[in-house]
Amino acid sequence: MEKLWSPWRSKYIDSFKSDEDKTSCIFCKMQSLDINNNENLLVNAGEYTFTLLNLYPYNNGHLMIVPKRHTNDFAALNSLELSEIFEKLQLAEKALRKVLNPQGFNLGANIGRVAGAGIEDHIHFHIVPRWNGDSNFMPVIGEVKVISQDLAETKSKLLVAYSSLNK
Ligand SMILES: [Zn+2]
Repeated sequence: MEKLWSPWRSKYIDSFKSDEDKTSCIFCKMQSLDINNNENLLVNAGEYTFTLLNLYPYNNGHLMIVPKRHTNDFAALNSLELSEIFEKLQLAEKALRKVLNPQGFNLGANIGRVAGAGIEDHIHFHIVPRWNGDSNFMPVIGEVKVISQDLAETKSKLLVAYSSLNK
């Protein structure tokens, strides 16, 4: 009979691929970029996290808060990372309120491809501004819905808002 569950084996295999995964991970690569450069979508850099605009936003102002450490395991995040993620979600809400005046927000994470994660190897948290009439229902956040918006313009407005919030 075939063994379907052999965790020792997957750990063994993971030990070989972790370095390669890390160097091909877009979130690991982008965290060292300068937030003031308009070639990237970063809007905030923290000690344990960074915040960026989603290139494929569900809605205007869709931000993602990403821990700097490469992991896809929510349970592996430590208390410093968790508290900064929630502080940055609060800060993102404040900045988005200043810039876009939304009427509501969706907050959350898609963990695993089956749950709709677009980048499944590196956990990230979404904050999506909502307005009355923007949609009659909330599709899975990870689904790509390209909307017309000038990301560079939104970024520059958010940078001003973040600096006025002193973070
Ligand atoms: Zn990564």
